[in-house]
Amino acid sequence: MSALRQQRVTIVGAGLAGALLAVLLAKRGFAVSLYDRRPDPRQIAAERGRSINLALAARGIRALERAGVMEAARPLLIEMRGRMVHERAGEQKLLPYGWKPNEVIYSVGRAALTKLLVEAAAKHPNVSLHFNQTCLGVSARENVAHFRDDETDETFDVPLTPTIGTDGAGSFIRASLAADRFITVREEFLDHDYKELTLPPLNGARALEVNALHVWPRGGFMLIALPNTDGSFTATLFLARKGSNSFASLPTPQDVQQFFAREFPDAVPLIPGLLTEFFANPQGQLGTVHAEPWHVGGKVLLLGDAAHAVVPFHGQGMNAAFEDCTTLDELLDHDCEWERVFAKFDRARRPNAEAIAQMALENYVEMRDTVRDPGFQRRKVLSEELERRFPDRFIPRYSMVMFHPEIPYADALRRGAVQSEILAALDELAGTSGTLDLHQAQVLIHERLPPIPPRNG
Ligand SMILES: Cc1cc2nc3c(=O)[nH]c(=O)nc-3n(C[C@H](O)[C@H](O)[C@H](O)COP(=O)(O)OP(=O)(O)OC[C@H]3O[C@@H](n4cnc5c(N)ncnc54)[C@H](O)[C@@H]3O)c2cc1C
Repeated sequence: MSALRQQRVTIVGAGLAGALLAVLLAKRGFAVSLYDRRPDPRQIAAERGRSINLALAARGIRALERAGVMEAARPLLIEMRGRMVHERAGEQKLLPYGWKPNEVIYSVGRAALTKLLVEAAAKHPNVSLHFNQTCLGVSARENVAHFRDDETDETFDVPLTPTIGTDGAGSFIRASLAADRFITVREEFLDHDYKELTLPPLNGARALEVNALHVWPRGGFMLIALPNTDGSFTATLFLARKGSNSFASLPTPQDVQQFFAREFPDAVPLIPGLLTEFFANPQGQLGTVHAEPWHVGGKVLLLGDAAHAVVPFHGQGMNAAFEDCTTLDELLDHDCEWERVFAKFDRARRPNAEAIAQMALENYVEMRDTVRDPGFQRRKVLSEELERRFPDRFIPRYSMVMFHPEIPYADALRRGAVQSEILAALDELAGTSGTLDLHQAQVLIHERLPPIPPRNG
């Protein structure tokens, strides 16, 4: 422990992953310097218009528990038991996420959770916090990270002791490593953007059912809303940038009004600030980041969105970033040589990051479209039936991702593909009668799906 105290680790980005990682590394005894270009979240109000709330699921919870902050986080969470699907005519239907009572996810405010994690990091005497300090990039050859103090405008360098880049999807560290040809980066932007809107409480009551993630699926686009602890909901419109039914097709207040009245009529009275917010709030971009490798020797490591940002449709970006922190911390249980640890981290997480990137893209189609399809709903019921009967082999893919952190994302993707084929075969056999051929189900499942290793802990 005392030897580790001498070892300094610099973390750039005191967002969700950076602040959590600071807690985990501080608990191990490292001297942690945590930098962020923003002001100290303990002293400022939340920034609006940038994914105000997020869905927290089992992988994220597991990491928060490991860091010892889950109990403190609990008051920030609102349980969401399923998707509440809103049809154009105003009809609503709750599609539960799973059939077990504990198969729920939680809405959590980004600002509140970040603040809690920064507070938890600040409790450790071996953590030093530096806000309003922008990292301008790293020079791996010169072994330094470059910073600008945004209060004095002075620039300064910090040695790469190592440095962990948790500076988010637009990472400067990633860009500088790519510019110096240490890594290659591919950023794939979606041709759909997002915009956030607010559903405040109405006459002191919540505008919608609180324990659900609300979805207005409309085929090529959708509106969603997640509850906040202050009684409001934050809605997010996901819409193409160009073409018919796009952000570009809504240049005037009248266009916006007509579009919402046509597509989301039941939501219109719940968003009193629709026009003001629509034109004031930023139109955010979405995309997937592929970077390789994520580290330069034992000097620099990219983690969280900086390494592998994904589109938000599986609600897993933060959860995956938190799981990165768990993995790095677990690796440090066995090895403290940074180059080896970073290389092992890259090997362990890369297939999983690729898998969640793919599943997140696929889930956009599910949320905005197939969720309403009777075939989808039939297969969902069938999946749950198969899970009840063969719980050690068959778990719906969505459940594997959201509720089973012991199943890596890559395994969830692989098993999910096999399960889809089994479901299609059984669905066909069931035909119009809808009766499950149990014998055939057992044969297919035992033949094609090996048992899932039991949970440890
Ligand atoms: C619309 C939307 C909805 C989402 N919904 C969900 C969801 O429901 N569930 C989920 O799990 N994930 C969700 N995500 C993804 C989630 O927001 C990210 O995966 C998560 O924030 C990643 O954490 P991070 O710490 O890696 O990056 P961030 O949270 O982005 O933190 C990066 C930090 O680095 C700092 N920084 C940036 N550049 C610099 C610099 N040059 N110098 C110093 N500091 C810097 C920033 O100020 C910030 O504090 C959503 C994303 C979007 C866009």
